[in-house]
Amino acid sequence: MRNLLIAVLSALLLPLGSAFAQDPALTEDWSFKPPVVTPGKNQKPPSDAIVLFYRGRDLANWEGREGDPQWKTRCRRMIVNGTGDIRTKESFGDCQLHIEFRSPRRVESEGQGRGNSGVYMQSLYEVQILDSYENETYGNGQAGSVYKQAAPLVNSSRKPGKWQSYDIIYHAPKFDEAGNLTDPATITMFHNGVLIQDHFVIQGGTVYAGEPTYQAHGELPLLLQDHGNPVQYRNIWIRRL
Ligand code: MG
Repeated sequence: MRNLLIAVLSALLLPLGSAFAQDPALTEDWSFKPPVVTPGKNQKPPSDAIVLFYRGRDLANWEGREGDPQWKTRCRRMIVNGTGDIRTKESFGDCQLHIEFRSPRRVESEGQGRGNSGVYMQSLYEVQILDSYENETYGNGQAGSVYKQAAPLVNSSRKPGKWQSYDIIYHAPKFDEAGNLTDPATITMFHNGVLIQDHFVIQGGTVYAGEPTYQAHGELPLLLQDHGNPVQYRNIWIRRL
C-alpha cells in the first residue's frame, strides 16, 4: 500500500519536477542582434531616421508638383501658402513616420475649411490634418481619419495654434507581377501619443467622391497637401521598415 502511494505521488509530481529542471538557455535566441538606435532627446529624431524637415530653413528634401516647392519657411517652420502640394524627393514604402503640425491660432472657418492639410502616404493615401478641436465635420474626414475611409478611434486634438503630432506605422500595399493587389496597405497611428488608428486596412487610393481602388505601384514620395489653410509643420522624420 505504501509503495503504491509513493508510485502514484511520483507519477503526479514528476512532470512538475521536469518542467523546473528544463534549461532556460534552450529558449534564448542569440541569432539576431538588434541594431543600436539612439533615441532622440527632446523630440529630436532617432539616430537612424531620415530627417525630412527639422526646424530648418530650407526645403532641400522636398519638391513641388512642378519644380521647386514654394511653401514659406519662417522661424524654422514650413508653412502652407496656397502654392500647391509638396512631396519628398525620396520615395518610400513600409515606414514609421513622425510629423508635427499646428493649425492657425485664429479660427476663421469651420468644418473642412478649418486648418485643413493632409499627409499622403505614398502620395496616394491621405491621413487627414484638420483643426478638429470643437469643430464638427463627418467622422471619416476629421483629424486623424484615413480620409473618407476610417474615422479616428477618438478625437485627441489640441486647441488651435498648439503643436500636435502624428506617429504612423504604415505598411505599403503589395502587388503581384500582373499588377493585382496581394496585400492591401495598413496603418496604425497615434495622435499626440493616443492610439487613433489600430491596424486599419486601407481600401484604396483616397478619393473625394466614389469608391477607393488600388492601382499597382512601387515606392512613392510622401506628400503634404496644400488645402489653402496656413497650416505649419516642423520636425518631420521617417524610418524605413
Ligand atoms: Mg486634407
